[in-house]
Amino acid sequence: MKNEIRVTGSLVQAYTVCPRQAWLASRQICPDEDNVYLALGRLIDQQSYGREKKEIRLGHLCLDLIRRGKKQLVIGEVKKSSRAREAAKLQLAFYLHELAEMGIEAEGELLFPEERRKERVLLDEAMSQQITEIKEAITALVNEKQPPPPNKNRRCPKCAYAELCWA
Ligand code: SF4
Repeated sequence: MKNEIRVTGSLVQAYTVCPRQAWLASRQICPDEDNVYLALGRLIDQQSYGREKKEIRLGHLCLDLIRRGKKQLVIGEVKKSSRAREAAKLQLAFYLHELAEMGIEAEGELLFPEERRKERVLLDEAMSQQITEIKEAITALVNEKQPPPPNKNRRCPKCAYAELCWA
């Protein structure tokens, strides 16, 4: 029987970093809660943009920030570092794609408070196509009975599943 898991922004982000991470997250296998990088992420998430921060749940979307821009809504995604910028960008593009499917036009802002940086993200046709393909790939992945084997990559040392993969 197929797993009816809905693709979420955090699965898109995890998949881009490491498909095994996405599979584990899709099974709600809890990462190591004591992982210092997870704790740091939570702290930054709580403290940054305090006045503006309004985590919004919109169906399967969990948006960090939302505000009215000059022309359209602006969706913000807060990250502790720009090292996984590509994955964060795809996560934000996924939100814009899903909102567009609901008939809501928006643009995105990637926010790196520790680096005092932000980056505008606009959904174009190529990115929209890429998101469609990623959603299909994630759906196929989470329907696999077993996760892909661990594959050492530069994210492993800071990954909350490191103990599960490499202990
Ligand atoms: S520790 Fe490495 S292989 Fe394991 S889930 Fe994390 S990134 Fe993937």
